[in-house]
Amino acid sequence: MIKNYIYTLLNRIKIEKKYNIALNNLINYLRDSKFLNDDNVESAFRNIPRHEFVQTSELDRAYSNEPLSIMKNQTISQPGVVSRMTEWLDIKDGQKILEIGTGSAWQTAILSYLVGTGTVYSIERHSELVKFAKENLEKFSLNNTHVILGDGSLGYPQASPFDRIMITAACQEIPLPLLEQLADNGLIIAPVGDSSQSLVLLKKTPKGIIEIKSQSHYIFVPLLGKFGKKN
Ligand code: SAM
Repeated sequence: MIKNYIYTLLNRIKIEKKYNIALNNLINYLRDSKFLNDDNVESAFRNIPRHEFVQTSELDRAYSNEPLSIMKNQTISQPGVVSRMTEWLDIKDGQKILEIGTGSAWQTAILSYLVGTGTVYSIERHSELVKFAKENLEKFSLNNTHVILGDGSLGYPQASPFDRIMITAACQEIPLPLLEQLADNGLIIAPVGDSSQSLVLLKKTPKGIIEIKSQSHYIFVPLLGKFGKKN
């Protein structure tokens, strides 16, 4: 009995050590390639381990800088893209955030960690993924997230306005309801385009919506729904 317990414990320590080495290598790579520059985002990456959000069959690749399949032909986003989008969105404690496209909820959990006393609403259109996301989030004591089944292209008017909005699927154009639900001086980030997209960061100002920055050559799965691509 005790022998079995010690064996399991040693095995777990060995696995955690393996993940820690892989995470350190990933963080060094993201720092060197300037995809990761912010200490708070690094802390989120360390406290919200990606291997808790991937499927068992993908565990060996949890810390490689690539998107991985989850289910329903969707992917958990590439770490470099998650760090860049999170940094651009400039999350502050206490904010209200809307995320469209929960997927595995890894990005959701990172936002939740950074927003502290704030709240994250995340919408996903596949019920299987909502279940997967909720199971993944339950592994952490994050009590400021709401995962909602629905069409995220409509936003979530009942909790608006949002200080920050992140769309994690490719849009032909940013859905109008999401721009309407953004708070004054709020930021919204989204990949915009067809087969290849530009990551675009916009701000709502008294003079209207202005572009803060944009960068080309990103590839995301499409945003579907009423104000997204029609399937
Ligand atoms: N950030 C997620 C993660 O780390 O696991 C990955 C998001 S994945 C790239 C994009 C997600 O957007 C998919 O799970 C897809 O089902 C979802 N999606 C696409 N169109 C949607 C819509 N209209 N409403 C809600 N979710 C949508």
